[in-house]
Order: sequence, then structure tokens, then C-alpha cells
Amino acid sequence: MSPPEILIVGAGPAGLTAATYLGRFRRNVRVADGGEPRACWIPLSHNMPGFPAGIGGPAILERMREQAREYGADIRPGRVERLMRDADALVAVIDGERIAVRAVLLATGVVDHHPDLPGVERAVQRALVRICPICDGYEATGKAVAILGDSDKGAREAAFMRTYSDRVTLIHVGPPEHLTQVDEMARLGIEVVAAPLEGVQLQDDRVTALDWGGQSRAFDLIYSALGTSPNAELARDLGARLADDGRLEVDLHQATSVPGLWAAGDVVRGLNQIAVATAEAAVAATDIHNTLRRADGWTVAD
Ligand SMILES: Cc1cc2nc3c(=O)[nH]c(=O)nc-3n(C[C@H](O)[C@H](O)[C@H](O)COP(=O)(O)OP(=O)(O)OC[C@H]3O[C@@H](n4cnc5c(N)ncnc54)[C@H](O)[C@@H]3O)c2cc1C
Repeated sequence: MSPPEILIVGAGPAGLTAATYLGRFRRNVRVADGGEPRACWIPLSHNMPGFPAGIGGPAILERMREQAREYGADIRPGRVERLMRDADALVAVIDGERIAVRAVLLATGVVDHHPDLPGVERAVQRALVRICPICDGYEATGKAVAILGDSDKGAREAAFMRTYSDRVTLIHVGPPEHLTQVDEMARLGIEVVAAPLEGVQLQDDRVTALDWGGQSRAFDLIYSALGTSPNAELARDLGARLADDGRLEVDLHQATSVPGLWAAGDVVRGLNQIAVATAEAAVAATDIHNTLRRADGWTVAD
């Protein structure tokens, strides 16, 4: 197999979509798969275009991997530990192996800040604790919903959930000064509880009630609005420009401020949605291909 020209870091929806596009542009692509993409946590997505009956995250990823491999993508487990510049090339260290490539696409996603609840990971996989109102707020229509927050992000998500329910409670577990939208919550009819959680009641590993200040309250659904941290260290260490929230800044073609480095998906400022990740990946892959064509002397390369 010839050496890869392009390295894709991350095998979630963004990385795998770019691998399919670049494979179809007849590029040699290596995908470093760090494991556990966020998408693998999706129990059943109802907003994936083309799947009216819904589709689970693992099934989406399996289809995307199959499609990328069909066009030659070399998808291997491995974490990229470092990215360095060496003349015109970018050099990646993947679990101790060094490879030099002409372009890198970062599709490394974000890490969710989960609430400190027992069995939370399983609860997320079973959609008992949710983290994305844009993804599945519709399924909360008319339900009693608790939002766990530690900043005004919690207030924003509680306000968003009023699209679906008039029984929304914001449980603010952070410092009081981190919640400035108390009056707006009252105006929207959202109850605010500012207290640390003292207990969680479970039945068959299902969260049935939350306890605070001697009270216990049942909810149909709990959303965590505790935020995420972008996996942007590799780009930051290369000097790429980051937005205030730590995600990567890119231009209209998904190019970062570092030549040879593109980014797509949740690691880029955006909606944290599969449709967005795949769209950004398509744009990035096309720009990578055209940029390499120009570098190879093609004068008509757009
Ligand atoms: C519970 C849940 C439900 C959701 N529901 C929906 C939904 O219904 N609809 C929807 O559109 N979206 C949904 N989302 C959001 C969706 O999963 C993300 O928007 C999508 O996965 C982003 O794709 P991505 O490729 O950018 O990142 P990810 O899917 O997170 O993939 C990033 C990959 O990069 C890898 N990586 C990171 N660093 C390295 C490294 N140094 N080296 C190698 N690999 C690395 C990670 O291991 C990971 O595999 C949901 C998310 C969650 C958690």
C-alpha cells in the first residue's frame, strides 16, 4: 500500500465522511481511530436525514466505516499523540509510529462533562439522561424535564426546552454567580432550584427522582447541560487559532489558521450535530483535494 498523503484524526461522522470523499477523489487516506466517537452514544436518532424510523449511533458509524473502506480508506485504531511541522509536511506520532503527510483533517470531536450521577454512562446510552436538546428535545414534548446546569448554558437549554414543555425545572449546581438569567427563567415559567444534588433515586437503574435540600422530585427526563471540552490540543500545540470556547476557528473551507491543517465536526464551533459534521467534512475534503492539486501545479483547481 502506498504511503498516505492525508491523515484524518478521528473516526466519527466527520472523519469517516471526509474519508469517503477523499477516497472518491482517489487520495490515499489514513484514518486514526481513537475509539468511542460521541456518535456511538446515540441510542436512537430521529433527526438523521434519510432515516424516518430513526437509527442508532453504532449503526450510523458502521455504515460510514463500510462506505469509507469501499473507497480505500485505511482505518486503523490509534491515538495521534502529536502533530509537528517538518518543511512542507505535517508529521504525526500515532501510538509511537511517525507518519509524514501533506494534509491533516482534525475530526476529534469533544468530550462531554457528565453529571456526577451513579451509572450515568449507561443512563446516557439508554436516553434516560440526555445531553442534546437539539437532537431529541422533540421526544420530550409535554414531559416533566429537569435541566442540570452550572452556568448560563443551563439557562439557555432550559429556555430552549420551553419549545416542548411547560414543565421545565433548571437545577443549578454551580456557584450562584454563574447563573445570571434568573429573572428570564421566571418570565418563561421555568422553576429554578439552586442547590447541590444530594441524591438520586433509581429504579431498575433508571433515574426516577432527584433529591436536594430535603426535597425529592420526580421527572420524566433529565438533561445535562454541563458542557463539553473540545479535543483541540493537537491543533493548539501547532499554533492554530481557537475560539473563546476552545473550539477551532476555520475559514469557509474548514481550513484552520495553520497551513495544511483542516478541521470539521464538533471540534469546530457549531451545532454539535451529525448533519453539520458531515457537511463540514465534505467541504474540508474537497478543499484539501483542490489545495493539493494546486500544489501539484494544476492551475484550474477550483
Ligand atoms: C447521547 C448523544 C446523543 C446524540 N444524538 C444526536 C442526534 O440524535 N442527532 C445528531 O445529529 N447528533 C447527535 N449527537 C451529536 C453527535 O454525536 C455529534 O455531533 C457527532 O458525533 C460529531 O461527530 P464528530 O465526528 O465531530 O465527533 P465524534 O463523533 O465525537 O468523533 C470524534 C473521534 O475523534 C477521536 N479522537 C479524538 N482525539 C483523537 C486523537 N488524538 N487521535 C485519534 N482519534 C482521536 C475520538 O476518539 C472520536 O472517536 C448526540 C451525541 C450524544 C453524546
